[in-house]
Amino acid sequence: MDDCIFCQIVAGDIPARVVYEDEDVLAFLDANPLAPGHTLVIPKTHYETLDEVPPEPGEMMFAAVHYLTPIVEDAVDADGSNIGFNNGAAAGQEVPHVHGHIVPRFEDDGGSPIHAVAGSPPDLDDDELDALADDIADAAGDHTPD
Ligand code: 5GP
Ligand code: ZN
Repeated sequence: MDDCIFCQIVAGDIPARVVYEDEDVLAFLDANPLAPGHTLVIPKTHYETLDEVPPEPGEMMFAAVHYLTPIVEDAVDADGSNIGFNNGAAAGQEVPHVHGHIVPRFEDDGGSPIHAVAGSPPDLDDDELDALADDIADAAGDHTPD
């Protein structure tokens, strides 16, 4: 994608402070960090949202998030971190190339938990929760070991 900022970073056409690279994944510091060490983790191939990412690059991306999170936290002496994807414009995604945010957090940073990102919480009764769980479990299929 020629006009994608993150594809241009992957291609080396736009500079970035790269902190990690493997065959499928690149990670670099966010240019407008919410905290010191704020890192973005992307698949090198252009996919807009998570549903478009095939299994293998998806697994590599999440593996890199898992690998990098404690490294980023240690680098800035953080007390914790929020890990998140703004997945789709409705969720606040501005750069249309899938990316995970690793945002280091500090005891006294005045920030909020990830619960603060959504709008008004729904008031769902037990039947509605049961039906939702059934729908999602049916769609997810059976992954228990044989
Ligand atoms: P989104 O809202 O799409 O999840 O977040 C996009 C993130 O990309 C923002 O946190 C923004 O600061 C970051 N960003 C946007 N353009 C650039 C850029 O050219 N370089 C880097 N390193 N980060 C960028
Ligand atoms: Zn892209």
